[in-house]
Amino acid sequence: MRTELPKHLHLLALLAAILLAACRPAEAPLLERRFIALGTIVDITLFGVDAEQADPVLAAVERDFHRLHHDWHAWEDSRLTAINTALQQGGQAPVPADLMAVLERARALNRSSDGLFEPAIGGLMALWGFHSNDLPDRVPDAAAIEAWLAGRPRMTDLELQDGRARTDNPRLQLDLGAFAKGVAVDRAIAALRAAGIDNAIVNAGGDLRAIGARERPWRIGIRHPRAPGVLASIETRGDESIFTSGDYERYFEAEGTRYHHIIDPRSGYPARGTASLTVIHTEAATADAAAPALFVAGDAWPRTAADMGINRVMRVRADGTVEMTPAMAGRIRFETETEPAVMLRELP
Ligand code: ADP
Ligand code: MG
Repeated sequence: MRTELPKHLHLLALLAAILLAACRPAEAPLLERRFIALGTIVDITLFGVDAEQADPVLAAVERDFHRLHHDWHAWEDSRLTAINTALQQGGQAPVPADLMAVLERARALNRSSDGLFEPAIGGLMALWGFHSNDLPDRVPDAAAIEAWLAGRPRMTDLELQDGRARTDNPRLQLDLGAFAKGVAVDRAIAALRAAGIDNAIVNAGGDLRAIGARERPWRIGIRHPRAPGVLASIETRGDESIFTSGDYERYFEAEGTRYHHIIDPRSGYPARGTASLTVIHTEAATADAAAPALFVAGDAWPRTAADMGINRVMRVRADGTVEMTPAMAGRIRFETETEPAVMLRELP
């Protein structure tokens, strides 16, 4: 989770806004709220409510995002860093009830992804220099990565019981960078619904959950991983989360190679072969964990998708070709001048 907002995010949010706002005349207005939390721009768009009804719940949702930002920050003083310090020093830490539920959920998703979604990866993220508001500029020593791999911590090494987390692995450091946004988005949607709001998008930096619709379906843009602008759009009505993990979000280049922030816990290095991976699923938390897991899975993503119960997937490979499940193909409309080559892949 970043505190400083990378410049490209402004562009990203703008793009999302352009797509959503490209409406026909006579349409009822949307209510919008924007703030920064969890290292990104959060945009909430509501349809069919007036400001008076929406204001209290929007304020509560914004407060909740800020609270999670401060509680779960991976490198600034937070509840999470306190837990990490305690785990490192004494192998155990008290965990507040709401975080306990989140860690249990993360552990279940770690299992179903066969360890590719690995929230115990904090030590490795720090080693790569991604636990900083600035981007790293050099590759860590191979020996340091080898040492991490030799004692490779896994979420399954974490015992969660009676309000405490325990582990025998001194390298286990929690990082909710791939999960916090999803949890926060689900919480926001639940709060909006409880306030009687049925048509909404909660968009955290291009990762979002949309419920209901406007006069027509919500239209969501998927960013092109290698060009400014939108690669494709998806229309949604009802209740869906659309999450993307990309190698363009946070990266640095060294000797012509791109090193980005989605790390393969099996190799210790940024996962290769994928430029971006998009999933559609009902719950945002599951979608948030699945996107990096399938990104890391590389060519084997259909197996991981099946294991995680995800059946709408689009992968833009590093060579620019696109792979999709048939269920995703029915939803995607390319917005580029020439359509990329698409290969359909069934889940096993
Ligand atoms: P964002 O949506 O911010 O671009 P992603 O959801 O793609 O980020 O997740 C990337 C973040 O997840 C990293 O910054 C890091 O904190 C964490 N992370 C990196 N690799 C993994 C992994 N294999 N499993 C779980 N979390 C990871
Ligand atoms: Mg994510």
